[in-house]
Amino acid sequence: MTQASLGQSVVQKEIQSQNNGVAANITHTQPLWLLAEVTYRCPLHCAFCYNPTDYDKHTQNELTTEQWIQALRDARRLGALQLGISGGEPLLRDDIEDIVIEAKKLGYYSNLITSGVGLTEKRIQAFKDGGLDHIQLSMHDITEEINNFITNTKTFELKKKVAAMIKNHGYPMVLNVVIHRYNIGHMRQILEMAEALGADYIELANTQYYGWSLVNRSQLMPTKEQIDEAERITNEFREKQGSKMKVFFVVPDYFSDRPKKCMNGWGEVFMIVTANGDVLPCHSARVLPNIEFPNVKDKGLDWVWNDSPAFNKYRGDSWMKEPCRSCAEKEKDLAGCRCQAFMLTGDAEGADPVCSLSPNHHVITQAIEDSRNSVIASQPIIFRNDKNSKAIIAGELNDRVKEFHALP
Ligand code: SF4
Ligand code: SF4
Repeated sequence: MTQASLGQSVVQKEIQSQNNGVAANITHTQPLWLLAEVTYRCPLHCAFCYNPTDYDKHTQNELTTEQWIQALRDARRLGALQLGISGGEPLLRDDIEDIVIEAKKLGYYSNLITSGVGLTEKRIQAFKDGGLDHIQLSMHDITEEINNFITNTKTFELKKKVAAMIKNHGYPMVLNVVIHRYNIGHMRQILEMAEALGADYIELANTQYYGWSLVNRSQLMPTKEQIDEAERITNEFREKQGSKMKVFFVVPDYFSDRPKKCMNGWGEVFMIVTANGDVLPCHSARVLPNIEFPNVKDKGLDWVWNDSPAFNKYRGDSWMKEPCRSCAEKEKDLAGCRCQAFMLTGDAEGADPVCSLSPNHHVITQAIEDSRNSVIASQPIIFRNDKNSKAIIAGELNDRVKEFHALP
């Protein structure tokens, strides 16, 4: 699945409106979000998939229904309010209906994040009856050609049918479109398509370079000029269209000169339970060295959140190095993303190299240069699939990925 940032913004707003506009009180002693990555299996093979490139190592020993239900109960006891059900493709499991019913009983605001493959009339009715609050559907382009190319599947017509099904069942229509070189020129048409489908929200999520999108970075990255134009078209559309459809445009890290406060702070808001039960503060955290992430099969979520070395490792600022430690802006971004810092520089405690003050910022400018280098950019895309994951684990694609320190 694509990253759950839209889910965060949209669901947060809905919870606030249910609470008369009062935002949930967020402290690191209380997670707000539980993201359940219930499986790494997926029928799609997206070039930009944020799942780990070595996911094939983690496909065995998926949590059982009972173990998921226990995790939901434990996280709710800790204070989590929002549940994202994600993957891979969560609908490949046949117990999502049970998870939804339990989530409703526990009082979660639940959000299914899906490619749409596997969503039938029977299942969506069961989700409605069970109390699922929200469905976020990924779309890829207005053309069948680009949709099918970037996902390496034939899913274009199916996605349109699923969008209509979601609408017919009275759900708000929430679309997520990952933006990259292949679809950035279709921004206006993508917005018009979303409007025609009756979307209530659309997130135009510029690709962030983690997992498979990092491997395919030179092939996917648009130019700064294309991003500026896409943003201009989005703003123009917003002005013309008024407030009917909410449009979110997520600016890519590489073209900012300051990083984002990754996951709103390490161990501050998010808790991610992966398919095999590992508990992470962010999707990519397993790339980091010298951290043992706990597993719900061995440890309770209370201990994981409050006491585990993994969740405490990057809380506060005592771990920061210069220039972040004495930087006046450190409260704003908490030195950016630990995974990005490690993957691109080999130093997990350093400043996120996206920051123009980082001594390693040149790796970002070099990546932008590489994406304009026709020889590098014309290398074939490595699609997310089991065969390529096995090849990456075995080191067979090292030539392609050697500049990224953390990839296996
Ligand atoms: S391959 Fe595509 S649909 Fe499947 S998990 Fe990755 S991004 Fe989502
Ligand atoms: S130097 Fe560090 S803390 Fe300061 S703005 Fe850059 S990343 Fe943020």
